[in-house]
Amino acid sequence: MKNLLYFFAVLILIGCSTSKEISKKYAKTITSEELKEHLYIYASDEFEGRNTGEPGQKKAAKYLKDFYIKHKINSPNGNDNYYQTITSEWLSKNSRRGDLKNSENVLAFIKGTEKPDEIIVISAHLDHVGTKNGEIYNGADDDGSGTVAILEIAQAFKKAAKRGKGPKRSILFLHVTGEEKGLLGSKYYTENPVFPLKNTICNLNIDMIGRIDKFHKTDSNYVYLIGSDKLSTDLHKISDSINKKFTNINLDYRYNDEDDPNRFYYRSDHYNFAKHNIPVIFYFNGTHEDYHKPTDTPDKINYDLLAKRTRLVFHTAWELANRKERIVVDKTKIEKDL
Ligand SMILES: [Zn+2]
Repeated sequence: MKNLLYFFAVLILIGCSTSKEISKKYAKTITSEELKEHLYIYASDEFEGRNTGEPGQKKAAKYLKDFYIKHKINSPNGNDNYYQTITSEWLSKNSRRGDLKNSENVLAFIKGTEKPDEIIVISAHLDHVGTKNGEIYNGADDDGSGTVAILEIAQAFKKAAKRGKGPKRSILFLHVTGEEKGLLGSKYYTENPVFPLKNTICNLNIDMIGRIDKFHKTDSNYVYLIGSDKLSTDLHKISDSINKKFTNINLDYRYNDEDDPNRFYYRSDHYNFAKHNIPVIFYFNGTHEDYHKPTDTPDKINYDLLAKRTRLVFHTAWELANRKERIVVDKTKIEKDL
């Protein structure tokens, strides 16, 4: 009997370490070099600051679509239609910044092997503020960094899936438009979801993870986490333990405080999910001297740090997708209008 117990204990240990090794193996495919390569294109002058509905933003959307086609990561629509088109009328009605031309969210999808109806959404906004007075606002950190992070995360999941290690739950890679005009793309998606929101188990939203702020000049190994404990105790615990297990980044909760005057919890796309009672984590490096300036350029990104933070999101998504139980929503929704 004792031997048998010992045998099972060893089996469980092997099982655990194997799953850890697998996720580590694919996290390694997320590299600072590839992130850099993507970001130097995505935040280049050619994309003209990616202003919602304008030609530069259309180029950005096409870049994302071409990436998913190239890597054979499907559209949730099941063909080559990776866009969720939003009409000019809807955008203009909901915009805080005047009339807008039509625009699009870009969606890619990896179907779960065991619980395909349960969805994890990983999001970042594809747009930025465009060009003002002849100056291009490249938005390398905001939110080129989150955008290229998603590309690398999607590629890592795809590589695993190709080798029979696909996620048990489904993952939606959601690039939303119109964030800078009032969180429009995420508002539109959550009002017109491709998958039912009741089966959307969480949203990991990335907006600016390639730089450091003034509070971390001496130790750049940090990221702000916002929202992780607001709706689900499970999510907060998982996020924390995954970081300890794999990445050891200092998780800074300063902006998670309900009384923080910056109100970042309400200021990026994850809030549109949280409003619908979907647990979220917002990954963020804080603001810096180039925030919303033409000087937010790709040469100022810390690519090793970007890679490390991207791996944290990947490992967290991996755990949420593969763990036995769906995370539980056990806290009350915060009712606040934007
Ligand atoms: Zn942003």
